[in-house]
Amino acid sequence: MKIVIVSSEVVPFAKTGGLADVCGALPEALKNIGSDTCVFMPKYREVNNYFKKNNILPKSPCPGLFTFEIKGVNFYFIEHNDYFDRDGLYGTAMGDYPDNAQRFGFFCKRTLEYLKQIGFKPDIIHCHDWQAALAITYLKNNSKHDSFFKKTKTVLTIHNLAYQGLFDKSEMPKIELNDNLFNIEGLEFYWKVNLLKGGIVFSDLITTVSPTYAKEIQTKEFGCGLEGLLFSRNQKLKGVINGLDYFLWNPEKDSLIYKKFSIKKINDKYENKVGLQKEVGLKVSKDIPLFGIVTRLAEQKGVDIISEAMEIMCNKDLQLVILGTGDIKYHQILEGIAKKHKNFVLLLKFDNRLAHDIYAASDFFLMPSRYEPCGLGQMISLKYGSLPLVSKTGGLADTIIDIDDNSVKGNGMLLKDYSKKSLLEVVDRSLDLYTHTKSLHKVINVAMNNDFSWEESAREYQKLFKALLK
Ligand code: ADP
Repeated sequence: MKIVIVSSEVVPFAKTGGLADVCGALPEALKNIGSDTCVFMPKYREVNNYFKKNNILPKSPCPGLFTFEIKGVNFYFIEHNDYFDRDGLYGTAMGDYPDNAQRFGFFCKRTLEYLKQIGFKPDIIHCHDWQAALAITYLKNNSKHDSFFKKTKTVLTIHNLAYQGLFDKSEMPKIELNDNLFNIEGLEFYWKVNLLKGGIVFSDLITTVSPTYAKEIQTKEFGCGLEGLLFSRNQKLKGVINGLDYFLWNPEKDSLIYKKFSIKKINDKYENKVGLQKEVGLKVSKDIPLFGIVTRLAEQKGVDIISEAMEIMCNKDLQLVILGTGDIKYHQILEGIAKKHKNFVLLLKFDNRLAHDIYAASDFFLMPSRYEPCGLGQMISLKYGSLPLVSKTGGLADTIIDIDDNSVKGNGMLLKDYSKKSLLEVVDRSLDLYTHTKSLHKVINVAMNNDFSWEESAREYQKLFKALLK
């Protein structure tokens, strides 16, 4: 089966979030189970920097297209320096780039053209999020008579329904969308053009990144205005949980952490705690429970209830490290609290090395998301023996079992509901667990033995793709 993955961010070349992790790992996992898979993404400044830093000279099969192979998967990069040789993938601290519709419209259009030029005739075009969704709309409209794609089926994966790619109607001719698509059956969404909606309307299959989120997005609470459309398409809407790339995230082999460790050598985990405490200026002690958070500072991630609960948390006998960037409002609120409490360290940046260190060093990992399509943080923290304390939503509900609900399989704790009170309750429960060393180590053992590798998820995708091609 020939599969092309179309995504606006892919690890290790350019990343702002989990989308990049997925599109970096899924292609190899699909290849490993027998599919011929390639990936298309824009050639951002960040990609150029990656090539320079690693002394890579990508090949250029045709003008404007560059390629580089990793483990048998060809990654293709579409060049347009005016569009992509910029700071940031989607914008700057000042906001999104105003020409994002044109930037990603160009990316999608050129992806289809280049596939023909390189002679890769896909059985499946697998597009991720609104930035790639236009490839589906183009294929089913602008290129519908193109014999090259006659047998190609399209799949849209929604990583986060809150980001839909909404633009003014005046953008339509600039991205070669015919006016006749601007209606309720097409891309219109409350007088705007909605690029994700186009993907939902025209794709042969819609997937999202966990079974629970697939159900949630058909409801008013989580549907972001598209719940009706998704409900009407629920026969072709499936949830496939993301895997975790254990090549990148493995405490036994991780060269970014202070000391490698495993279940058998769990005491070495605490060297990481000491290392982090020293590095960020916390009191050095293996005995104080350390809570970690690695996140975008966005309301989705529960930063509002974290902020509300912070003062009370900081007055407890614990340490807290937050690594994140995002909403300026939360930068300011958290900075204010961090100034007052020595046991709380705030690191306002995106730093992959520090993220690894925090997963390795923490005893508990807080992820009280308001909603969570899948979430990688909880899976990473499980692998690093940092017990996840999470909301019962989306992928968190599909991966974390409360130790009070199941004493054998329990691998973390679930908030009763989305509130400061429930957050503080799980913090208290975890502090209690921390004092019971034997029980704590039993749960750490379960957590570190959980397996969310990509192979299972890739097989699930393959099964769905095969069914489409029948
Ligand atoms: P989302 O994609 O919604 O941001 P996920 O949990 O699916 O959330 O994935 C987030 C990924 O980004 C994880 O790999 C996490 O470790 C990483 N990450 C988030 N914030 C930071 C940060 N400030 N520094 C380094 N890595 C980060």
